[in-house]
Amino acid sequence: MDTFTSNDEPKMKKDYDKKVFVNRNLTLESIKCYGFDMDYTLAMYKSPDYESMGFELIRDRMVSVGYPHEILRYTYDPSFPTRGIVVDTTYGNLLKVDSNGNILVCSHGFLFLKQNDIYFYYPNKFIQRDDTERFYILNTLFNLSETYLYACLVDFFTRCTRYSNLDEGFQHGDLFMSYRSMFQDVRKAMDFVHDKGILKDQTIKNLEKYVIKDPGIPVLLTRIKEVAKVFLATNSDYNYTEVIMKYLLEGYTQAGYPRKTWRSFFDLVVVDTRKPLFFADGTVLRQVDTNTGKLRIGTYTGDLQHGTVYSGGSSDIICDLLDVRGKDILYVGDHIFGDILKSKKRQGWKTFLVVPELTKELQVWEEKRAVFEELKRLDVFLAELYKHLDSGSKECPDISAIKTRMTVLTYRMDICYGQMGSLLRSGYTQTLFASQLIRYADLYSSTCINLLQYPFNYLFMAPPVLMPHEAASQNSAEVASSEQNSHGVVTNRN
Ligand code: IMP
Ligand code: MG
Repeated sequence: MDTFTSNDEPKMKKDYDKKVFVNRNLTLESIKCYGFDMDYTLAMYKSPDYESMGFELIRDRMVSVGYPHEILRYTYDPSFPTRGIVVDTTYGNLLKVDSNGNILVCSHGFLFLKQNDIYFYYPNKFIQRDDTERFYILNTLFNLSETYLYACLVDFFTRCTRYSNLDEGFQHGDLFMSYRSMFQDVRKAMDFVHDKGILKDQTIKNLEKYVIKDPGIPVLLTRIKEVAKVFLATNSDYNYTEVIMKYLLEGYTQAGYPRKTWRSFFDLVVVDTRKPLFFADGTVLRQVDTNTGKLRIGTYTGDLQHGTVYSGGSSDIICDLLDVRGKDILYVGDHIFGDILKSKKRQGWKTFLVVPELTKELQVWEEKRAVFEELKRLDVFLAELYKHLDSGSKECPDISAIKTRMTVLTYRMDICYGQMGSLLRSGYTQTLFASQLIRYADLYSSTCINLLQYPFNYLFMAPPVLMPHEAASQNSAEVASSEQNSHGVVTNRN
């Protein structure tokens, strides 16, 4: 087992990518049941090949429903989209926002808007993100390809001389194409490739190209099953789940790998869950005929049958079947809203968010630490400038140079993550995604396989977070104490 103790600094650094991070204390000993999502959780898709394939499928679909052939020239660029981007369907902009809806980054097609242009669209540099008719959050890794396609369309129509640019869309003769309708078309294309099984068919045909087969998965599930109950709850249908889970869990011939069917790794398998609805009213629970993949008619009302696959249902039904309470469950998923926020808010489950982007986030954070440190120093310097002023002061410090430098540093740091910047921050400010991660995910890591690094009685401890008034009072106590020390006064702090 790798340990991550404070006196183990050099090792910690090396193993950051294997670490599980903690927002709230959690003892694994109290977890009686582990639940797993499938897509992008147990089944990790190979990036950017998978998103690229998704992009081509929706791009081609758009052309087949009437969009110009010229858009076929666009190919997926993984450096552009970041997860958690908000689409403003009125003005066709892509926005990165903080937890309150303040705009951090704004692009129109591939053009990144400067401050003044942002104020033109958003006089408060703020959006009311509760307005879900207008703003749509692209929360999942599946959404990356449509984020990029939408930018391609805005780019294409903005530059195409056949169309004139209006505030809320494009005009071509007597045809008006609004940004809103374009986004609806992209969403429809995305639903189409999912619901018709086109994306799934392509994946199944090229499993090795698109799905990471990690031997850690069967080991993790086997070890968990020795100490707790395990279930799989996926929005995917049975036939797809069968192929993917078989690929991930069966067919190992090496010693140490159990030869058993994928279903026997779980106490319960439920497909077609329709999360987030699953965490509320849910749908009818039915049994799946595993020979034909068809659903049995009627609602299932019996006890849990091992080896049976269920379809639909709800989190309450699953708790009853497994005879566990919500607080005894650790649910592992990749969807901040459908898997994590809803299971925590509606059912009080313990949550583990899989964030594959964390590998890159950690890498940039390490490499660009000096830039962030300079940002921090400038922040302290700003505070110093104002420190001796009060409501009677007439002097007004000139901070324009500092602010410009901070903007430059923020941009320099952001661009290392990708064109839209980090998933989690823009300079000093955390994104909406980061704030939801902190609030709703008890644990998070780049992959669920990192659970292998910890024993099943492990106590995950969150780093203490001080409120500003507590931190200020602690800092001044520390300064006083070090001043006393420098005057030769003996203290008993250690
Ligand atoms: P899970 O992550 O295992 O719960 O499964 C996610 C399922 O949702 C997969 O079957 C995807 O094909 C499906 N899915 C993801 N995004 C969309 C979408 O935008 N429209 C329709 N289905 C989707
Ligand atoms: Mg998923």
